[in-house]
Amino acid sequence: MRALVKTANGQGNLELRDVPVPPVESGEVLIHVRACGICGSDLRIQDGQHPCTPPVVIGHEFAGEIAELGAGVSTWAVGDRVVSEQHFKACGHCRQCLTGNAFACMSKRAPGYFSDGAFAEFISAPAWLLHRIPDNLNFVEAAFTEPSAVAAHGMLDRTGINPGDVVLILGCGPIGLVAAKMAQTVGASTVIITGIDRDEIARLPKARELCIEHVVNIMKEDLEGLVNRLTHGEGADVVIELSGAVPAISQSFQLARRLGRVGMIGQPPVEEVKIPYRQAMFRALTVSFSYSSKFTSWERALSLFERGAIKPSQFITHVLPLEEWSRGFNLSRSGEAVKVVLEP
Ligand SMILES: [Zn+2]
Ligand SMILES: [Zn+2]
Repeated sequence: MRALVKTANGQGNLELRDVPVPPVESGEVLIHVRACGICGSDLRIQDGQHPCTPPVVIGHEFAGEIAELGAGVSTWAVGDRVVSEQHFKACGHCRQCLTGNAFACMSKRAPGYFSDGAFAEFISAPAWLLHRIPDNLNFVEAAFTEPSAVAAHGMLDRTGINPGDVVLILGCGPIGLVAAKMAQTVGASTVIITGIDRDEIARLPKARELCIEHVVNIMKEDLEGLVNRLTHGEGADVVIELSGAVPAISQSFQLARRLGRVGMIGQPPVEEVKIPYRQAMFRALTVSFSYSSKFTSWERALSLFERGAIKPSQFITHVLPLEEWSRGFNLSRSGEAVKVVLEP
């Protein structure tokens, strides 16, 4: 089968190769991949700046159809339309696994990084990680579940939004945009989302199209002034950092109100980031860090899709065949695309 393989560490080393269809172990299903989204982390893998274990098939935001059942799988049938959580090889018996947090299991080998991923015709996945795709979604739309689950996990499960909150989302990539829409849906009184000049091509216009109340290009407008105006100088109830930009990380502490909540989801390109520690301390901020997602976040995302509160098609700007992966990566990188989905 055709698959996009990271062949070795370092810059580039990404190519379409013919590889064997993966074996189906006991407890797994073989999924015929019908759509797989390009993530910012795929671009970092291309740049040699994201950990992974080559040679490995990349791609993790996938949707498909069950093609074969492994031994002992009785709760799914061939032909079922599914998406999958990412906790491949989670042990099932550590504290994290037993408390529903398999995303943080030490044994986990996430597909597309540490085990073979889904920019390929087939992927094998553990049956216990699957979720059924609602009938109103096609495969391309369903491929947007993973990034939406990441938003739901970091913002709803770990940080929390209360009705009436003023929510500030820093960064307007696909996860920032869907988080902003999600914040509106769960009752935020006002949502502010930010971007930079490069985001004027597609992402800030998309935020306006999604009717996010305040869409701010921080290179042209005074974000702090706006937050103060909207909150009578108090600061935002909730700040969600999704840009991964070092200055934004530090700013997120300054733009939250006293006793406000700050959720860190964006991944900075460096190990250490300086933060205004005393300011955070004397505002008594609650700070939560987050990565990946869990069962509840997938169910929340799928339920929002199913009842039409969030429409994944609004975030997907390009659908390309797998053969055009390189064009897809460039569209994501340049900011011309919001979400690009490849069809193997
Ligand atoms: Zn992703
Ligand atoms: Zn475990």
